[in-house]
Amino acid sequence: MKRIAIEEAFVTPEIATEWKKVLGSPDVEPGFAKMGESILADTPGNALLHSRLLDIGNGRIAHMDEIGIDMQVLSLTSPGVQVFHPDLATRLAADANDALAEAVRAAPSRLAGLGAIAPQDPAAAAREIERIKSLGLLGLIVNSHTFGEYLDGPRNAPIFEAMEATGLPMYLHPREPAPSIVMPFLDYGLYFAGWGFAVETGLHAMRLIMSGTFARFPKLKIILGHMGEGIPFWLQRIDNRYLLQVKIGAVEKLPCLPSEYFLENFVITTAGVTSMAALRLSIDVLGAERILFAADYPYEDDAEAVRFLDGAVLTERERELVSHENAERLLALS
Ligand code: MN
Repeated sequence: MKRIAIEEAFVTPEIATEWKKVLGSPDVEPGFAKMGESILADTPGNALLHSRLLDIGNGRIAHMDEIGIDMQVLSLTSPGVQVFHPDLATRLAADANDALAEAVRAAPSRLAGLGAIAPQDPAAAAREIERIKSLGLLGLIVNSHTFGEYLDGPRNAPIFEAMEATGLPMYLHPREPAPSIVMPFLDYGLYFAGWGFAVETGLHAMRLIMSGTFARFPKLKIILGHMGEGIPFWLQRIDNRYLLQVKIGAVEKLPCLPSEYFLENFVITTAGVTSMAALRLSIDVLGAERILFAADYPYEDDAEAVRFLDGAVLTERERELVSHENAERLLALS
Protein backbone atom coordinates (compact mmCIF):
# COMPACT_ATOMS: atom_id res chain seq x y z
CA MET A 1 0.00 0.00 0.00
CA LYS A 2 1.20 3.49 -0.86
CA ARG A 3 2.64 5.37 2.12
CA ILE A 4 2.78 9.18 2.25
CA ALA A 5 4.53 10.61 5.30
CA ILE A 6 3.68 14.23 5.98
CA GLU A 7 5.79 15.51 8.90
CA GLU A 8 9.27 15.01 7.52
CA ALA A 9 12.02 17.46 8.40
CA PHE A 10 14.90 19.21 6.66
CA VAL A 11 17.10 22.22 7.27
CA THR A 12 19.19 24.48 5.05
CA PRO A 13 22.89 25.02 5.84
CA GLU A 14 22.32 28.77 6.27
CA ILE A 15 19.52 28.34 8.83
CA ALA A 16 21.61 25.81 10.79
CA THR A 17 24.44 28.39 10.87
CA GLU A 18 22.12 31.22 11.97
CA TRP A 19 20.71 29.03 14.78
CA LYS A 20 24.24 28.70 16.17
CA LYS A 21 24.55 32.50 16.31
CA VAL A 22 21.26 32.77 18.24
CA LEU A 23 22.31 29.94 20.57
CA GLY A 24 25.56 31.79 21.29
CA SER A 25 23.83 35.04 22.21
CA PRO A 26 23.03 35.95 25.84
CA ASP A 27 19.29 36.59 25.23
CA VAL A 28 18.53 33.20 23.64
CA GLU A 29 15.10 31.86 24.68
CA PRO A 30 15.52 29.28 27.49
CA GLY A 31 13.69 26.49 25.66
CA PHE A 32 15.72 26.97 22.49
CA ALA A 33 18.92 27.06 24.59
CA LYS A 34 18.03 23.56 25.81
CA MET A 35 17.71 22.42 22.19
CA GLY A 36 21.19 23.80 21.62
CA GLU A 37 22.44 21.56 24.43
CA SER A 38 20.60 18.48 23.14
CA ILE A 39 19.67 17.60 19.56
CA LEU A 40 21.14 20.74 17.98
CA ALA A 41 24.55 20.23 19.66
CA ASP A 42 27.49 19.34 17.41
CA THR A 43 28.20 15.99 19.04
CA PRO A 44 29.16 12.66 17.42
CA GLY A 45 25.78 11.28 18.53
CA ASN A 46 23.97 13.97 16.49
CA ALA A 47 26.09 13.70 13.33
CA LEU A 48 23.82 11.30 11.44
CA LEU A 49 20.69 13.30 12.37
CA HIS A 50 22.24 16.56 11.19
CA SER A 51 23.47 15.09 7.89
CA ARG A 52 20.03 13.58 7.25
CA LEU A 53 18.32 16.94 7.93
CA LEU A 54 20.54 18.62 5.33
CA ASP A 55 19.89 16.02 2.60
CA ILE A 56 16.82 16.78 0.47
CA GLY A 57 18.01 14.78 -2.52
CA ASN A 58 19.23 11.34 -3.47
CA GLY A 59 20.38 10.16 -0.04
CA ARG A 60 16.96 10.85 1.42
CA ILE A 61 15.17 9.15 -1.46
CA ALA A 62 17.44 6.08 -1.19
CA HIS A 63 16.53 5.88 2.51
CA MET A 64 12.81 6.15 1.64
CA ASP A 65 13.23 3.24 -0.80
CA GLU A 66 14.86 1.15 1.91
CA ILE A 67 12.09 1.88 4.47
CA GLY A 68 9.11 1.76 2.11
CA ILE A 69 7.98 5.40 2.08
CA ASP A 70 6.57 6.41 -1.29
CA MET A 71 6.43 10.14 -0.62
CA GLN A 72 7.76 12.49 2.04
CA VAL A 73 6.08 15.86 2.53
CA LEU A 74 9.02 17.94 3.74
CA SER A 75 9.02 20.96 6.00
CA LEU A 76 11.69 23.18 7.51
CA THR A 77 12.51 21.75 10.90
CA SER A 78 11.65 23.34 14.24
CA PRO A 79 12.00 26.17 15.25
CA GLY A 80 12.64 27.16 11.64
CA VAL A 81 13.05 30.90 11.18
CA GLN A 82 11.00 31.76 14.28
CA VAL A 83 14.05 32.62 16.42
CA PHE A 84 15.41 35.33 14.10
CA HIS A 85 14.68 39.05 13.81
CA PRO A 86 11.85 39.71 11.34
CA ASP A 87 13.86 40.72 8.25
CA LEU A 88 16.31 37.83 8.51
CA ALA A 89 13.46 35.41 9.25
CA THR A 90 11.46 36.57 6.23
CA ARG A 91 14.47 36.25 3.90
CA LEU A 92 15.53 32.83 5.22
CA ALA A 93 11.97 31.47 4.97
CA ALA A 94 11.87 32.51 1.30
CA ASP A 95 15.31 30.97 0.64
CA ALA A 96 14.30 27.72 2.34
CA ASN A 97 11.09 27.64 0.30
CA ASP A 98 13.07 28.11 -2.92
CA ALA A 99 15.42 25.26 -1.96
CA LEU A 100 12.48 23.04 -1.05
CA ALA A 101 10.64 23.80 -4.30
CA GLU A 102 13.79 22.91 -6.25
CA ALA A 103 14.10 19.57 -4.42
CA VAL A 104 10.44 18.82 -5.16
CA ARG A 105 10.87 19.73 -8.84
CA ALA A 106 13.79 17.27 -9.04
CA ALA A 107 11.73 14.37 -7.64
CA PRO A 108 8.04 15.26 -7.94
CA SER A 109 6.79 11.70 -7.49
CA ARG A 110 8.75 11.24 -4.23
CA LEU A 111 8.90 14.64 -2.49
CA ALA A 112 6.38 17.36 -1.76
CA GLY A 113 6.70 20.32 0.58
CA LEU A 114 5.15 22.67 3.10
CA GLY A 115 6.61 26.17 2.98
CA ALA A 116 7.96 28.16 5.91
CA ILE A 117 6.71 31.58 6.95
CA ALA A 118 7.97 34.15 9.45
CA PRO A 119 5.04 35.10 11.72
CA GLN A 120 7.26 37.90 13.13
CA ASP A 121 6.03 39.96 10.13
CA PRO A 122 2.44 38.89 9.34
CA ALA A 123 2.14 41.05 6.19
CA ALA A 124 5.34 39.57 4.75
CA ALA A 125 4.19 36.11 5.84
CA ALA A 126 0.93 36.61 3.94
CA ARG A 127 2.91 37.54 0.81
CA GLU A 128 5.11 34.47 1.30
CA ILE A 129 2.00 32.25 1.51
CA GLU A 130 1.02 33.46 -1.98
CA ARG A 131 4.55 32.69 -3.18
CA ILE A 132 4.48 29.24 -1.50
CA LYS A 133 1.39 28.49 -3.56
CA SER A 134 3.02 29.68 -6.78
CA LEU A 135 6.14 27.56 -6.04
CA GLY A 136 3.92 24.46 -6.04
CA LEU A 137 4.30 23.75 -2.32
CA LEU A 138 1.18 22.27 -0.75
CA GLY A 139 0.81 24.03 2.59
CA LEU A 140 2.80 25.83 5.26
CA ILE A 141 4.49 25.07 8.52
CA VAL A 142 4.57 27.10 11.73
CA ASN A 143 6.54 25.85 14.73
CA SER A 144 4.19 27.00 17.50
CA HIS A 145 5.09 30.23 19.33
CA THR A 146 7.23 33.01 17.89
CA PHE A 147 9.03 34.91 20.67
CA GLY A 148 6.18 33.88 22.96
CA GLU A 149 3.42 35.05 20.62
CA TYR A 150 0.62 32.79 19.40
CA LEU A 151 -1.26 33.06 16.13
CA ASP A 152 -4.65 33.91 17.70
CA GLY A 153 -3.55 37.55 18.12
CA PRO A 154 -5.40 40.02 15.82
CA ARG A 155 -2.17 41.10 14.10
CA ASN A 156 -2.01 37.66 12.43
CA ALA A 157 -5.25 38.09 10.45
CA PRO A 158 -3.29 38.59 7.17
CA ILE A 159 -1.82 35.08 7.59
CA PHE A 160 -5.26 33.50 7.91
CA GLU A 161 -6.67 35.60 5.07
CA ALA A 162 -3.85 34.35 2.82
CA MET A 163 -4.47 30.75 3.92
CA GLU A 164 -8.14 31.03 3.03
CA ALA A 165 -7.37 32.75 -0.28
CA THR A 166 -4.84 30.08 -1.33
CA GLY A 167 -6.58 27.11 0.30
CA LEU A 168 -3.28 26.01 1.83
CA PRO A 169 -3.36 24.12 5.17
CA MET A 170 -0.95 24.90 8.02
CA TYR A 171 0.99 22.26 9.91
CA LEU A 172 1.14 23.59 13.47
CA HIS A 173 4.33 21.84 14.51
CA PRO A 174 5.85 21.67 18.01
CA ARG A 175 8.75 23.47 19.57
CA GLU A 176 9.80 24.09 23.16
CA PRO A 177 7.32 25.90 25.45
CA ALA A 178 7.19 29.70 25.22
CA PRO A 179 9.44 31.76 27.53
CA SER A 180 6.48 32.74 29.75
CA ILE A 181 5.70 29.12 30.66
CA VAL A 182 8.94 27.22 30.11
CA MET A 183 10.56 27.39 33.57
CA PRO A 184 8.97 24.27 35.15
CA PHE A 185 9.70 22.37 31.93
CA LEU A 186 13.44 22.98 32.09
CA ASP A 187 14.00 20.20 34.66
CA TYR A 188 14.19 16.51 33.82
CA GLY A 189 14.00 17.03 30.04
CA LEU A 190 10.29 17.91 30.28
CA TYR A 191 10.64 20.75 27.75
CA PHE A 192 11.33 18.16 25.02
CA ALA A 193 9.22 16.05 22.64
CA GLY A 194 7.85 13.59 25.21
CA TRP A 195 5.84 16.26 27.05
CA GLY A 196 6.63 19.98 26.67
CA PHE A 197 6.26 20.06 22.88
CA ALA A 198 2.72 18.66 23.15
CA VAL A 199 1.75 21.02 25.99
CA GLU A 200 3.01 24.01 23.98
CA THR A 201 1.45 22.99 20.67
CA GLY A 202 -1.81 21.75 22.20
CA LEU A 203 -2.09 25.11 23.98
CA HIS A 204 -1.54 26.90 20.68
CA ALA A 205 -4.30 24.88 18.98
CA MET A 206 -6.66 25.52 21.91
CA ARG A 207 -5.92 29.26 21.75
CA LEU A 208 -6.94 29.23 18.08
CA ILE A 209 -10.20 27.42 18.92
CA MET A 210 -11.19 29.37 22.03
CA SER A 211 -10.33 32.78 20.53
CA GLY A 212 -12.94 32.28 17.81
CA THR A 213 -10.32 32.18 15.04
CA PHE A 214 -12.30 29.49 13.20
CA ALA A 215 -15.52 31.47 13.55
CA ARG A 216 -13.74 34.34 11.75
CA PHE A 217 -11.87 32.10 9.27
CA PRO A 218 -14.08 29.03 8.81
CA LYS A 219 -12.10 27.58 5.89
CA LEU A 220 -8.79 27.21 7.78
CA LYS A 221 -7.24 23.76 7.88
CA ILE A 222 -4.73 23.04 10.64
CA ILE A 223 -2.65 19.86 10.84
CA LEU A 224 -1.50 18.71 14.28
CA GLY A 225 1.13 16.02 14.66
CA HIS A 226 1.72 13.49 17.42
CA MET A 227 -1.85 12.14 17.40
CA GLY A 228 -3.30 15.62 17.88
CA GLU A 229 -0.96 16.62 20.74
CA GLY A 230 -3.32 14.97 23.24
CA ILE A 231 -6.43 16.97 22.32
CA PRO A 232 -8.54 14.00 21.05
CA PHE A 233 -8.22 12.42 24.51
CA TRP A 234 -9.55 15.59 26.21
CA LEU A 235 -12.19 16.72 23.72
CA GLN A 236 -15.28 15.65 25.68
CA ARG A 237 -14.00 17.36 28.83
CA ILE A 238 -12.98 20.47 26.87
CA ASP A 239 -16.59 20.85 25.64
CA ASN A 240 -18.06 20.06 29.04
CA ARG A 241 -16.01 22.63 30.96
CA TYR A 242 -16.37 25.22 28.18
CA LEU A 243 -20.17 24.91 28.49
CA LEU A 244 -19.95 25.41 32.25
CA GLN A 245 -17.83 28.53 31.77
CA VAL A 246 -20.34 29.89 29.24
CA LYS A 247 -23.21 29.18 31.66
CA ILE A 248 -21.59 31.10 34.52
CA GLY A 249 -20.53 33.92 32.22
CA ALA A 250 -16.80 33.26 32.55
CA VAL A 251 -16.14 32.98 28.81
CA GLU A 252 -17.94 34.18 25.71
CA LYS A 253 -20.06 31.73 23.78
CA LEU A 254 -18.62 30.65 20.44
CA PRO A 255 -20.91 29.85 17.49
CA CYS A 256 -19.81 26.19 17.70
CA LEU A 257 -18.49 23.86 20.38
CA PRO A 258 -14.70 23.48 20.71
CA SER A 259 -15.02 19.86 19.54
CA GLU A 260 -16.99 20.97 16.47
CA TYR A 261 -14.14 23.30 15.46
CA PHE A 262 -11.64 20.53 16.11
CA LEU A 263 -13.55 18.17 13.80
CA GLU A 264 -14.14 20.83 11.14
CA ASN A 265 -10.81 22.66 11.02
CA PHE A 266 -8.18 20.14 12.13
CA VAL A 267 -6.65 16.89 11.00
CA ILE A 268 -4.01 15.02 12.97
CA THR A 269 -1.02 12.84 12.13
CA THR A 270 0.58 9.79 13.68
CA ALA A 271 4.03 11.46 13.78
CA GLY A 272 6.14 9.93 16.53
CA VAL A 273 3.32 7.80 17.99
CA THR A 274 3.28 4.01 17.60
CA SER A 275 0.60 3.19 20.16
CA MET A 276 -2.44 1.28 18.90
CA ALA A 277 -4.43 2.56 21.90
CA ALA A 278 -3.74 6.16 20.89
CA LEU A 279 -4.56 5.50 17.24
CA ARG A 280 -7.78 3.65 18.14
CA LEU A 281 -8.93 6.46 20.44
CA SER A 282 -8.17 9.04 17.73
CA ILE A 283 -10.16 7.09 15.13
CA ASP A 284 -13.06 6.65 17.56
CA VAL A 285 -13.14 10.38 18.39
CA LEU A 286 -12.29 11.92 15.01
CA GLY A 287 -12.90 9.28 12.35
CA ALA A 288 -10.22 7.67 10.18
CA GLU A 289 -10.66 10.35 7.53
CA ARG A 290 -8.98 12.89 9.85
CA ILE A 291 -5.81 10.91 10.60
CA LEU A 292 -2.74 10.99 8.37
CA PHE A 293 0.46 8.97 8.48
CA ALA A 294 3.72 10.72 9.36
CA ALA A 295 7.11 9.35 10.34
CA ASP A 296 8.89 12.49 11.68
CA TYR A 297 12.07 11.55 9.80
CA PRO A 298 14.91 11.88 10.71
CA TYR A 299 14.02 12.45 14.39
CA GLU A 300 12.03 9.25 14.82
CA ASP A 301 12.59 5.68 13.62
CA ASP A 302 10.64 5.66 10.37
CA ALA A 303 11.05 1.89 9.95
CA GLU A 304 9.16 1.47 13.21
CA ALA A 305 6.49 3.93 12.02
CA VAL A 306 5.97 1.83 8.88
CA ARG A 307 5.83 -1.41 10.91
CA PHE A 308 3.23 0.22 13.18
CA LEU A 309 1.08 1.39 10.27
CA ASP A 310 1.23 -1.99 8.54
CA GLY A 311 0.53 -3.95 11.72
CA ALA A 312 -2.11 -1.65 13.20
CA VAL A 313 -5.50 -3.23 13.89
CA LEU A 314 -7.43 -1.33 11.22
CA THR A 315 -9.89 -2.19 8.48
CA GLU A 316 -8.26 -2.08 5.06
CA ARG A 317 -10.36 1.04 4.32
CA GLU A 318 -9.02 2.77 7.43
CA ARG A 319 -5.45 1.76 6.50
CA GLU A 320 -5.85 3.23 2.99
CA LEU A 321 -7.16 6.49 4.39
CA VAL A 322 -4.38 6.88 6.96
CA SER A 323 -1.57 5.63 4.70
CA HIS A 324 -2.20 7.92 1.74
CA GLU A 325 -5.76 8.88 0.80
CA ASN A 326 -6.27 11.52 3.47
CA ALA A 327 -2.97 13.19 2.54
CA GLU A 328 -3.86 13.10 -1.16
CA ARG A 329 -7.22 14.76 -0.46
CA LEU A 330 -5.94 17.36 2.04
CA LEU A 331 -2.93 18.39 -0.03
CA ALA A 332 -4.61 17.98 -3.44
CA LEU A 333 -1.96 15.43 -4.47
CA SER A 334 -2.54 13.43 -7.68
MN1 MN B 1 8.51 16.91 13.67
